[in-house]
This record gives sequence, structure tokens and C-alpha cells, in this order.
Amino acid sequence: MKSWRAISVFATTVACVCSAALLWPHPARTQQASSPIAFASISASASVQQPSSSSSTQTPTIEEYNPKSTLVVPEHKIQRAKFPFIDIHSHHGNPTPEHVGQLVKEMDTINLRVLVNLSGGTGEELKKTVATMKGRYPDRFVVFANPSYDDINTSGYGQRAAERLAADVRNGAQGLKIFKNFGMDLKYATGERVHADDPIFDPLFEKCAELKLPVLIHVAEPSAFFDPWDKNNERWQELKEFPQRARPPSKYPPFETLMAERNRLFARHPKVNFIAAHLAFHGNDLERLGKLFDTLPNMYVDIAAVLAELGRQPYSAHDFLVKYQDRVLMGKDIYEVNEYKWYFRALETRDEYFEYYRRRHAFWRIYGFQVPDEVLKKIYYKNALKLLPGIDAKAFPN
Ligand SMILES: [Zn+2]
Repeated sequence: MKSWRAISVFATTVACVCSAALLWPHPARTQQASSPIAFASISASASVQQPSSSSSTQTPTIEEYNPKSTLVVPEHKIQRAKFPFIDIHSHHGNPTPEHVGQLVKEMDTINLRVLVNLSGGTGEELKKTVATMKGRYPDRFVVFANPSYDDINTSGYGQRAAERLAADVRNGAQGLKIFKNFGMDLKYATGERVHADDPIFDPLFEKCAELKLPVLIHVAEPSAFFDPWDKNNERWQELKEFPQRARPPSKYPPFETLMAERNRLFARHPKVNFIAAHLAFHGNDLERLGKLFDTLPNMYVDIAAVLAELGRQPYSAHDFLVKYQDRVLMGKDIYEVNEYKWYFRALETRDEYFEYYRRRHAFWRIYGFQVPDEVLKKIYYKNALKLLPGIDAKAFPN
């Protein structure tokens, strides 16, 4: 995601100036304070007793601790998906022809048949992205448009946003992606937060219903980012690495407020198919997500960047995916061809206790939850084909 990367780079340079640090316990500080003490006591005792054994008794920091599992069990390191698949959640801002050519080569190696670029932008930028991707490989790419909020303070915004979207669709957009600033950082000139269910967007969503455009929407963040940043926080490591990802109450609405706004938005536009990104941030509570599916028939989710949630609960994940097999779509988020194999292994095998690809998302290991082929096909492509009628279904098995 172009904008996200830009924010991340900026934020790491100002990491510890985050105001959250003044309000909440700062894990980095706790960490730094405790490590030298532990180290000092070890070197003192080592110098008196057994200098040669200091490396075996040294206390590692939590980030250094990296135990090698001694478990011996069957391993199936799948490199290529069992069926062709559609990645509904990828980001390629302003791609060059070289990037796109390389992308297609890489996609072929893992059976990634169609990639959905959610970062199409709007207007000229969208036109250019469509030309560079779909224009050259019509069967391999789908581009979503993004709303502009530049004129949100001028009356008639919703109507104008709807007209811009209609123009983007004429220029090749096949869906609308709404980024995470929606509901959180987006503010009116008055300073008031723009709520996720603000009626100002009604004309935009009505246009989506009229044009049968799916809306992939990211509202909120993992609930742990809204919790105090302390030793009990499940995402401690990620918040240390990226302090700007914290959503302290001094700056952001509570997680539950955002969930309620999002759910009201989905309910208010029953003719729009909403794909809530990242398991709708309920990957850690699949029962809750199931209840939402039961009440909102127009709601879908992707599994992008939240595989570790499913992989830590293989029995629940399996049963959930079987039960809600029509509602879940394959997605990856940050594009890296070598990272898809974790998704294949989790979805297609019963491998146990294997390392995840991004430790800051999961200090735990994950398990495969192997779903039946029919479910796998729905997650890999059938559900996406249903929501995105522009894709040629002939490239996929029945
Ligand atoms: Zn994303």
C-alpha cells in the first residue's frame, strides 16, 4: 500500500515522539531499562564463577528469544496454490510497465490468476493504472478506485464523489476501496471526525449499488491497537516497532464505536456487497464474526494479513470457514510473492506448529486447518467471481 508505506517510513523516524508514550506505559523504555540490569548481573556472576559459560546463561531480550522448535512432524511446504486463485487485496500504486511485467511472471509461479489492485486512485491516476495493468494483461488484473475526500467540506460532496466513481468505472474500475483513514483520521475542517456511517456518503454507496460494484473497506485496526500498550498487549512487539499504529483514546474513538458505525453502514446499504478487510478485525472472535454474517447478508471478509488469527485456532478456523464458505475471500495485502505460501500451507494442509512469516503479527506459531476442496475453491476464487462479475470464469475450474 503506497500511502501506508509512506506513513510507516515517516513514522519510524519520529517513533518515540508519539504522544501515546506520555500517557501509556512505553514498552521500549521498559525494555531498555530492564535489559542492561539483567546483562550486568549475568556478567558479574560469570566473571566470578564460570567465564566460559556466559553465553549459555545469558538472558535474551524478548526480541532476541527465538527458540528453535525440536518438534518433528510431517511438513508440506506448498509453493503453489492447489487451484488458481484471486488475490482480492493487493496494493500497487502507480505501477510501471516493468513492475507489472515482473508481477505477471511471479503470479504464474504460485498460481495467482487474478490480482486485484486496490490502490487505483481516481481520475487520471486511475486511468493510468488501468492502462498499465489491465490494458496490457486484461485477464490478470482488476483495479479498484478510491474516493477523494478533498472537497468533503463543500456542500454536495456525496453527489460529486458518486459522479467521480461513475467516471472511474467508465475508465475501467471494477470496485471501490476505502482506506483506513475513513472513520479514524478523516476529519471535517471543523476538526470533527467523519464517522464511518456519516450520511454524507450515501450517494456514493447508492452509486455502488446501482453499478453493482463491490466495496472493499478497512474500518478500524486490530483491537489490541486500541488497548493500553503494556506487557499484556498481544501486539506489544508491533507497537514497539511502529508506535504510530497505536490508537490511544486521546486521539481515536474506541474500537467498539468504529465497529458499530461500520455495521450500521453495512445495514443501511443492503444492496451493496461490502468486503470487510482483514476478517473485519474479528479474526480473534470468529463467533462474533459469524453472528455479523448472520445479520448482514451483504457482508464478506478477506483474510489478508490476518492468517495468524486463523492459524492459532485451527479447529475453530476450519469449522468457521466451512460454515461461512460463501463469505470469505483470499487476500494477501502487502505484495510479496514468497509470502503466499503460508496461506497455501494453512488452508491446504494439517501441518502443525510452524513459524509465521511476520513475527510482529504473531509471536506464536500456526497450524494448518485444511478445508475441503469445495471450500478452498470458494475462498480462492468462486466468491470473488460472484462479487466481481468482470472476471473471466473460464480460467477457473468448476
Ligand atoms: Zn490493504
